[in-house]
Amino acid sequence: MSGYQTAECRSVISRSKLPGLDYTFNPYVGCGHGCVYCYVPDLLKGTFSRWPADVKVKEGVLEKLRKEVQKLSPGVVGISTSTDPYQPIEADLKIVRGSLEIFRDAGFPVSIQTKSPLVTRDMDLLGTMDAEVGITITSSTEEFRRRFEPSAPTPQSRFLALERLSGEGIRTWIFYGPIIHGFNDTEDEVRRIVGIAASTGSRVLYDKLNLKPLLMCRLLKSISREELERASSFDYRKAYAMVAKLCREAGVRASPAF
Ligand code: SF4
Repeated sequence: MSGYQTAECRSVISRSKLPGLDYTFNPYVGCGHGCVYCYVPDLLKGTFSRWPADVKVKEGVLEKLRKEVQKLSPGVVGISTSTDPYQPIEADLKIVRGSLEIFRDAGFPVSIQTKSPLVTRDMDLLGTMDAEVGITITSSTEEFRRRFEPSAPTPQSRFLALERLSGEGIRTWIFYGPIIHGFNDTEDEVRRIVGIAASTGSRVLYDKLNLKPLLMCRLLKSISREELERASSFDYRKAYAMVAKLCREAGVRASPAF
């Protein structure tokens, strides 16, 4: 495989204040999926000169992780919160896979969130530990993906990944977000996503578009100022109510993500 860049880091696992997570583990810095609505560049201001950013691997990540887990009490680890853990480079490096072995052996449950079907490679491991996998499904259409998630895997490949994971008895959930009014919040669209949740026994977490300065600049390259204004001034309680209602009718557990 071709070479890759590394990023210096002092520690690789952090305490988390996110709901349901005790720790976060981000083995990579940057993300190649290039979602235009991504708020990571806003959260890590000054870290990236462009987005999508070149993906870097944290230096000595697995050695550091092995040492750090020994000093912590077991708790749920979110993999990952500031990048997608299943970057294309993960297919060769197998760092997430190595981390799963470490977390399993140390008795740490894991909660993975990804857009990549590469996660199914690790089903053999995930089936032997306390693990759940969330697949982000923002839309069922290629049109939406091309516009907002240009380098991410197709919606169809995400549905199939969810089906395979659930078929193996692994707990699954769908992250339906961000909801961008005018683009992925029609009733038909929500019904399709709820249908996939129902057929795979997945719960649904949903979230609206959260506008931040760098994110707005990128969005304006994909949508018009009028569309942005319409999406930003929308009362998302209406979308939330529709998602909650359709999930309730389909017997799918659902809640806002934050
Ligand atoms: S996959 Fe997640 S981290 Fe990566 S660009 Fe998209 S929203 Fe950002």
